[in-house]
Parts: sequence; structure tokens; C-alpha cells
Amino acid sequence: MQTENIRKVAVVGAGTMGNGIAHVFAQTGYEVHLIDVSKSALERAVETIRKNLMRLLNKEKIDEQTKEQTLHNIHTFDNLFEGAKDVDFVVEAATENPEIKFKIFRDLDQITRPEVILATNTSSISITRIARQTNRPDKVIGMHFMNPVPIMKLVEVISGYSTSAATLDTVIALSEKLGKVPVSVSDYPGFVANRILMPMINEAIEALQTGVAGVKEIDTVLKLGANFPMGPLQLADFIGLDVCLAILNVMYEGFKDPKYAPNPLLVNMVEAGKLGVKSGEGFYDYSESRKAEKVAKAFRR
Ligand code: NAD
Repeated sequence: MQTENIRKVAVVGAGTMGNGIAHVFAQTGYEVHLIDVSKSALERAVETIRKNLMRLLNKEKIDEQTKEQTLHNIHTFDNLFEGAKDVDFVVEAATENPEIKFKIFRDLDQITRPEVILATNTSSISITRIARQTNRPDKVIGMHFMNPVPIMKLVEVISGYSTSAATLDTVIALSEKLGKVPVSVSDYPGFVANRILMPMINEAIEALQTGVAGVKEIDTVLKLGANFPMGPLQLADFIGLDVCLAILNVMYEGFKDPKYAPNPLLVNMVEAGKLGVKSGEGFYDYSESRKAEKVAKAFRR
């Protein structure tokens, strides 16, 4: 499938990433079928897109007509067959669970035309394994958007073992059309972004756990010393400590290398339900503000 023949796109999963991906495709002019098993997730997604468009309108980044046209381009479905049957391209952004994704890809392989490219936004599952669920492994590819999707420019485009050069070319061109900067990478655990980011976050947690420095001190060193917009502990809270733990475990198991072993403090925090911004507490306390202004009680010195 050539990029110029893609007009109608299915986005499977309407959570944090799915609504952002749907927004970006719809604002670029694509007709978007946003699909989720949960009706309330679909309603929340459309509300979030509407709010984000209002913000862009207020900042004069888009006009009223673009806002209306973008919303007009999005159609919601709670049934995969109805939503995906006549689309030209699919991005899957459902829950990060191999069994859920494998089933979606087996179904998409039956539902969509054979030439349709099936992309996945997975952060940690092997593209090659997902591709094996289908009869078109050459047309299965990773399209790893970053959160928040409408703002972050990067798309890691991940070729599985069997992904064809033609599929890669189409997805690179498509990402550019969306105003993103695609980077082509190979299918190994963590790809590139998480391969480098997660060990750094883990090391920051290790420095905290072994008493090298406190939460604020570690983040300040990286912000002012390495020009990071956010320190690694604040970033871990933003991503979700459960997500960081899951990705580290995938790399630890995938490479069988102890350098990726999650620090026990991270494991304890996830066990205790301290997951970062989304649970109200991680390395910082978010009960009053989401800005990481107050270090969590457990780490105050
Ligand atoms: P999320 O939990 O916010 O949303 C997942 C959605 O998938 C939910 O609305 C759920 O109802 C839906 N879903 C579950 N099973 C489904 C099915 N069978 N069919 C259709 N929809 C189904 O998750 P998220 O954070 O948006 O993550 C989605 C994907 O994006 C994951 O693969 C994740 O690894 C990846 N990702 C996440 C981030 C991030 O920062 N959150 C960044 C990059 C990539």
C-alpha cells in the first residue's frame, strides 16, 4: 500500500495513546475509525480530543474550521469488524498485553484487505511475534508514538524480522505527512528510546535507594547538568512506575542481562501502589499539584 492511497485509518484502542494518534491523523485530514471495546473509553477519548483542539485554537495554532473538520473526521466504533473492515491502514494502541494484541492482529488479518499495513504502538512487545499472528508479516510494523502524541515529534518505526522495505517506506512517508520525525530502528527489546531511557531511570532509582542523593537533588543534577527538561525520577512518575517496571522486565528477560534488572525500590513502589502521577504519589506527591513540586513523604530528608 502506497502512502498516497491511504485515506481511511483505523486506530484500535482509545486510551492515552489512541486518542492522541486519532487526533493527529484526523487533523492531518485522514478519516479515522477510532475503535475500543469500552464505550466510555471512546467517549472520554473524543472529549479529550475536543479539549486538546480547544487548547490549540485558543493558542491560535489552528482555526475554528480545522477544529471542526478534525472532530468531523473521527468516527467511533465498539466493534472491531465494523470499524476496521474498509480501512486502508491500521494503528493498534490497545492495552499492553501480548494476548490482547495477538488476538487483535489475528482478527485484523481476517477483517482487512490483504494489502493493508497493520502497525502497532507497542512499547515492549516483539514486532516479530505480533507479525507471526498474521498471514502478512511483511506488512506488520511498529509505529511507536510518544506521549503526548499531538506534541511529541518522534515516531520510532520498528521493522520486525519479516517487515518489508516497502512497508517501512510507506510508514516513514506517512509519519512525515503527520508532521512527525520518524526514526527507523530494529526489533530488539526496548527498541532505542526505552533501551536507553529505562536503564537511566533505573540508575537514578539505584542512586536514590543507596543514598547517593535525594529525589530533588538527583533530578536537579540531570536538569541543570545535562539540560534535561525533566529529571529522571519525575519522568518515571510521569510515565508510570508500573510501566517502567514492565519495560525493564521485558529487557531483562529479552537480553538475559542483569544490567536491566529493575531496582528493588521500584518493585516495592509498584507493589505498594505508588505508581507516580496517575496514582497521586511516586517519587513526588501529586495530591495538590501535578507539577512535581513536593517530594513524596517517604523520600523527605
Ligand atoms: P490505555 O490503558 O490508556 O488504553 C488502552 C485502551 O485499549 C483502553 O481504552 C482499552 O479499553 C482498550 N482495549 C483493550 N483491549 C482492547 C481490544 N481488544 N480492542 C480494542 N481496544 C481495547 O493504554 P495506553 O497508555 O494508551 O497504551 C496503549 C499502547 O501504547 C500500549 O501498547 C503501550 O505500550 C503503548 N505506548 C504507551 C505510551 C504511554 O506513555 N502511555 C507511550 C508509547 C507507547
